[in-house]
Amino acid sequence: MCGIFGCVIKDGQAVRLITDGLKRLEYRGYDSIGVATIVDGGLHVRKDKGKLEEVVEGLRINEMEGTIGMGHTRWATHGAPSRVNAHPHIDGSGNIALIHNGVIENYMELKDELIEKGHIFVSRTDTEVIPHLIEEELTSDIGMKGAILRVLRRLKGSYAVVVLSTHEPDRVYCARHESPLVIGVSDNGAFCASDVPAMLPYTNQVSYLRNGEMAVLTLDGYEVVKVIDGSLVERNLEEITWSLEMAEKQGYTHFMLKEIYEQPESLRDGLRLQEQYLNLLTQFLDRGKDVFLTAAGTSYHSCLAASYIFSKLSRLTTIPVVSSEFIERYGSTVGIDSVVLAVSQSGETYDTLKAIDHARMRAATVLGITNTVGSTLTRVSRAYLIQQSGPEIGVAATKTFTSQVIVLSQMALRLAKQKGKLSQDELDEFEEKLTLIPSWVEDTIQSNSGYIEALAEKYQDDKLFLFLGRGISAATALEGRLKLLEITYVPSLAYPAGESKHGPISVIEDGVACIFICPRGDTHPNIIGSIMEMKARGARIISICEEGDEEVKRLSDDFIEMPRGIPEELSPVPYVVPLQLLAYHLAVLKELDPDMPRNLAKSVTVP
Ligand code: GLU
Repeated sequence: MCGIFGCVIKDGQAVRLITDGLKRLEYRGYDSIGVATIVDGGLHVRKDKGKLEEVVEGLRINEMEGTIGMGHTRWATHGAPSRVNAHPHIDGSGNIALIHNGVIENYMELKDELIEKGHIFVSRTDTEVIPHLIEEELTSDIGMKGAILRVLRRLKGSYAVVVLSTHEPDRVYCARHESPLVIGVSDNGAFCASDVPAMLPYTNQVSYLRNGEMAVLTLDGYEVVKVIDGSLVERNLEEITWSLEMAEKQGYTHFMLKEIYEQPESLRDGLRLQEQYLNLLTQFLDRGKDVFLTAAGTSYHSCLAASYIFSKLSRLTTIPVVSSEFIERYGSTVGIDSVVLAVSQSGETYDTLKAIDHARMRAATVLGITNTVGSTLTRVSRAYLIQQSGPEIGVAATKTFTSQVIVLSQMALRLAKQKGKLSQDELDEFEEKLTLIPSWVEDTIQSNSGYIEALAEKYQDDKLFLFLGRGISAATALEGRLKLLEITYVPSLAYPAGESKHGPISVIEDGVACIFICPRGDTHPNIIGSIMEMKARGARIISICEEGDEEVKRLSDDFIEMPRGIPEELSPVPYVVPLQLLAYHLAVLKELDPDMPRNLAKSVTVP
């Protein structure tokens, strides 16, 4: 999410470097811009919402003086894009400025504590608590470094932060926990940024900060310490040999691949929902006589998966419906007792907005899940949750599906808790399993990516694929098929496996590739039957199954093994990942650009 750039340099203007650096981080997406410098002991801040060039020109940012400074491009998570919510954020005394990338989970608690002590807040961001906390710690005379370290130890969530202060006008402090931050040095000074491309024109000597580390940048170089105890970290700089274009993708060949690999991180952010909104949304859901889940494309598949999760965990019937069909299908029945939960990454999907316009007109309660604070969906919903997956550049959505499903799963669990639909043991177990999802995804990527690439080579000339799953895995199958269609254009079918005998099995002949999604759980015995049905007619079976599932493995020509212990109800998130990778590698082998599939746009804002 967003872009951060900080520097302290010997000659020239820091701000030129900052705005140039931010420009090279533009691909990360943003909604607001802000810059801070220190000149003659005074802090100078200019910021606003809008596009980089417009804000830089409008506020004459490049005319700002200073050899030390920092800049931020914001991707709002808390509080709509606006001037006050833009970073840098300042403490009460006006001496400390801070920029942040990430989500502070416990900001409400910290804010209440600070308000009690008399601090006044101007923004709706989670970030603003951090400079105020530093200000508060400084009263105990432990110096800037000590104060920042103390504050960082109190933060829960994800952050990359950069701090400037008039108390130490020659130093840039920066730190990270689960949000990226790189530092770099050259003869001319020291830099920090969210990503290498920002500083690549000035230096290729960099060091990636690790979680729980803070760096102090000065004209003489840098020092890295551990946040936990302030102890010194010794690490040599690395030399970056990538071109600027490669660096934007962090060395990945395409944004889609980068985004697939980013999922453990985006899922961790997806688990950091704001409690009060999670409660609010589930209370609304609970009040609905009819509950519709409406969306388009990948987001519709998230809704489909969610309909199983709501049913199984919260005993709530929900009706997933493609948003372009909503009005025709339910337009005359939706009403004051209905709840319509709309899901859209951009928050601007035309069909989805049309559907909820209609629902609002008929006095239904509209709720939203989106990735974009300040989007139309956030404005028209009674309440909304942000999926927190950060900008997604690849047209084929990957992070979007997994983040939306993890958000919807948390809603289902919260509702189960509120309605007493699961025992305490079951609740505890599901809650624990939810927190394991990011590492399951990580393990899946690490242990299978090489194998999946080889599998893609083996199947690269296939002219037809079937994707089959039972129960919730039917949604995973549909999403896997959509990835393949979108970026390889290979015809393929996906449907609930039990449907085969009612028609689609007629396409099976010797050698047709059938991909089965087979998590352990209630549907496992049935999927075995479906595999046998296809195998008997000559299909080649590729299955995605739990590690050690000998029964499925014996029936399969090829299999991808998944970590043990994933409950079926939460399986779509980890089980879709091999399908994303398979589609990606097939596209690359076909010499197609997976980031820019033909005829498709990232966000469909037209009828
Ligand atoms: N959570 C912060 C905000 O909403 C930072 C967002 C970002 O990473 O850009 O302002």
